[in-house]
Amino acid sequence: MRIDFHCHLFQPMNTRKMLEAGSIIFKGYGFYERMERKLEKIKSIETSNIMEKAIFHFKSANIDKVVLLPVNMKENQEVKKWVEYAPEIFIPFYNPPEKADDTIDAKEEIRKAIVEEGYKGFKIMLTFRKKRLNDQLIYPVLEAAQKFKIPIVMHCGYPPPGTRRNVLTYSNPIYIDEFASSFPKAKIVITHMGYPFTDIAIALAAQYPNIYLDISNLAYMMPSRLKDLLIRANEIIGVHKILYGSDGNSPEMTEIAVNYFDNIDFLTNEEIEKILGLNAAKLLNL
Ligand SMILES: [Zn+2]
Repeated sequence: MRIDFHCHLFQPMNTRKMLEAGSIIFKGYGFYERMERKLEKIKSIETSNIMEKAIFHFKSANIDKVVLLPVNMKENQEVKKWVEYAPEIFIPFYNPPEKADDTIDAKEEIRKAIVEEGYKGFKIMLTFRKKRLNDQLIYPVLEAAQKFKIPIVMHCGYPPPGTRRNVLTYSNPIYIDEFASSFPKAKIVITHMGYPFTDIAIALAAQYPNIYLDISNLAYMMPSRLKDLLIRANEIIGVHKILYGSDGNSPEMTEIAVNYFDNIDFLTNEEIEKILGLNAAKLLNL
């Protein structure tokens, strides 16, 4: 089984046209030029239904299931629409309250989301809200992740290219060190292998059984660096805690991310299948 563990809601406007518009901002950037060349070779379909288009590309990439990560509370409901459209494919995660607000009972909101509404994990975006991951707002979420035995994906490392906000100031995974052992049953996923804090991320995964690493975004942003990181992680922690994720902003990009694994010689087929889905299946109790 192949599972994309890191996918956001695609917006209908995130088509090739938008990528072309990106050429104004990213002209001359290696990742962008490489992606443009690769996208030319990917066949798509004409449809105004973005969910249909996304599923077309997941099927082309042989991806069976997709974890949908909302980036704010508003997207929690949108995620459910995607799940209703294709419940056999999409797995909904929940973005919990991430602002201090006395009028909200965060614990109760989180309980309802998991028990009554069926979300299967959490996505934490604190680092985009000028808060470090050891902020007190994280604790009710960790308690729930531990109680309900569901994964908690924490945005760590760099934001999307062109983000002119000081996310890196807050997104070093080192802050997870403060609480990882207090919540041993909360399965914590560090996104993008924490890049550029990758050594810290791998060290944390070596230290704590409940810390996992996702490789989302790295396959198309830095393929040669990803090779180095996978070899290094494999040397230290093996591959059983490494999770594949795409994290593209258009459905076509999911194919580029998966295609990375087509011709690599530094992992066995068994290791590749673990990264591409078997590890995630265990984490999600599938
Ligand atoms: Zn993401």
